[in-house]
Amino acid sequence: MRLILIGPPGVGKGTQSALLSSRLGVFPLSSGEIFRKEIEAQTDLGRLANSYIKHGELVPNGVTIEMMAKRLREPEVRKKGFILDGFPRTTRQADALDEILEEMDLPLSGVVSLEAPEELIVRRLSGRMGCTQCGAIYHSINKPPRREGFCDVCNSPIVVRSDDQPETIRERLRIFKETTAPVVEHYQAKSMLTRVDSTQDPEEVYAAILNALK
Ligand SMILES: [Zn+2]
Repeated sequence: MRLILIGPPGVGKGTQSALLSSRLGVFPLSSGEIFRKEIEAQTDLGRLANSYIKHGELVPNGVTIEMMAKRLREPEVRKKGFILDGFPRTTRQADALDEILEEMDLPLSGVVSLEAPEELIVRRLSGRMGCTQCGAIYHSINKPPRREGFCDVCNSPIVVRSDDQPETIRERLRIFKETTAPVVEHYQAKSMLTRVDSTQDPEEVYAAILNALK
């Protein structure tokens, strides 16, 4: 399977990526994971990427594409397939990816856009709280701590991160929509895109994704 999974924060992309990779043995590839790997291995590309990340700047397209290409060419990834998450983020990256895969003779199985109404996503994300000490994550509805306001693991105070404030979430969703829309159109124009309703339960979403790839 060679899949691109597109979806805003909070839509359940991480859950699906984990299900697909653990059940089907495909590699989940996100740009974050690939950056970390290259940086840890202290490759030239890793050092270059890190020089941007350290200064809070975006890693340039060219560097991201080169790192992604390197990972896609690894024999194990070629053999078992992949789920791309967070890449391609721009049409330039999408064009580059098309070229790389064509050159490797590895066509995509499909592109899935996970979708849910903004209100639902805001509700899901805004209940999130994190421990100030150990980083454990809680949710006011889905996973409340045993003692309100305190971590089950280490008893430290838990707080809503600034990233998870409703206004910040709306802004992140707006930016996601704006930057991703051209990528969605790119694959729609190639008749490769399937939209999947991500308000269903995770197993139903999983089945819908597999169905989209048939
Ligand atoms: Zn804790």
